[in-house]
Amino acid sequence: MKPAAFAYAKARSVDDAIRLLGDHKGEAKLLAGGQSLIATLNMRLSHPSLLVDINGVAGLDGVRLNGGTVEIGAMTRHVTLERSSDIAKHAPLIALAMPHIAHPAIRNRGTIGGSLAYADPAAELPACLVALGGEIDIAGPTGKRSVKAEDFFKGLFETALGPHDVLTAIRIPAATLDSRVGFVELARRHGDYAMVGLAAAARQHGKGLSDVRLVYFGVGETPVRARKAEAALGGGSIDEAVNALDLDPPDDIQATGAVKKHLAGVLLRRAAAQLAGSRA
Ligand SMILES: Cc1cc2nc3c(=O)[nH]c(=O)nc-3n(C[C@H](O)[C@H](O)[C@H](O)COP(=O)(O)OP(=O)(O)OC[C@H]3O[C@@H](n4cnc5c(N)ncnc54)[C@H](O)[C@@H]3O)c2cc1C
Repeated sequence: MKPAAFAYAKARSVDDAIRLLGDHKGEAKLLAGGQSLIATLNMRLSHPSLLVDINGVAGLDGVRLNGGTVEIGAMTRHVTLERSSDIAKHAPLIALAMPHIAHPAIRNRGTIGGSLAYADPAAELPACLVALGGEIDIAGPTGKRSVKAEDFFKGLFETALGPHDVLTAIRIPAATLDSRVGFVELARRHGDYAMVGLAAAARQHGKGLSDVRLVYFGVGETPVRARKAEAALGGGSIDEAVNALDLDPPDDIQATGAVKKHLAGVLLRRAAAQLAGSRA
């Protein structure tokens, strides 16, 4: 199918993008990598009157280390994160997740900002950001604000972004010597969206783990923290963590909820092994 007719504007700055979005009163959409947006246009699931292209807006891409924080510009392509030595060293959970996101051609264009703004419940990066306790920087008509990743994902394809907002950057605490991470997912074919996936982060505490965060994707409308399992894994028992898995995944096109719940337990055992063995 072909998209419905739309106008096109290339934003010169973040402020310009916000102004263009405001001028079209919720009828305009930002164009980042286009890897999700163009498909929804072609299927006529979305028919904006204007596309505001933010490719080329200065200052929106790149990985920066700022003290103990890793800052990633919204327009940073997946491929850049995949190949970045700074990401491998200071944000190893994101490095582990990258090869699971789609295919190289899509990773060449897709951006971290687009992935978070799109908020597909089976996407890898939203779960990673929640597991890492990240923050999302937003610029809008009334100024700038930051939202914790945990508060950013509001529902199915729904975020804290307003219709005239631009996601500008992501900030996560840089990994320290005691950081431990794990990333596992099950997909029908490599590169497909996950049936179920798990992004895990923790701190080594003596021979055990503390600050365990287990964030599932593909099991609900948003990334889902399994808080009871986190507590049990922090207490040292993988079996208890699996038994405590407080998930209630709905059936979807990929699998029944019961199958997903079973797979979540399988993934938890694998992620726990990674947490026990990984060193940032
Ligand atoms: C075949 C295929 C397989 C895929 N598989 C996976 C997968 O396994 N895992 C996965 O995570 N993703 C997958 N994707 C999606 C891919 O990761 C996209 O790159 C990503 O979802 C969207 O990023 P984008 O930069 O292309 O955004 P776009 O498509 O340009 O935009 C997506 C949405 O976000 C909005 N948006 C974009 N940037 C901003 C911003 N800075 N501020 C506010 N709003 C913004 C747009 O207006 C639009 O509504 C797949 C895509 C395809 C086509």
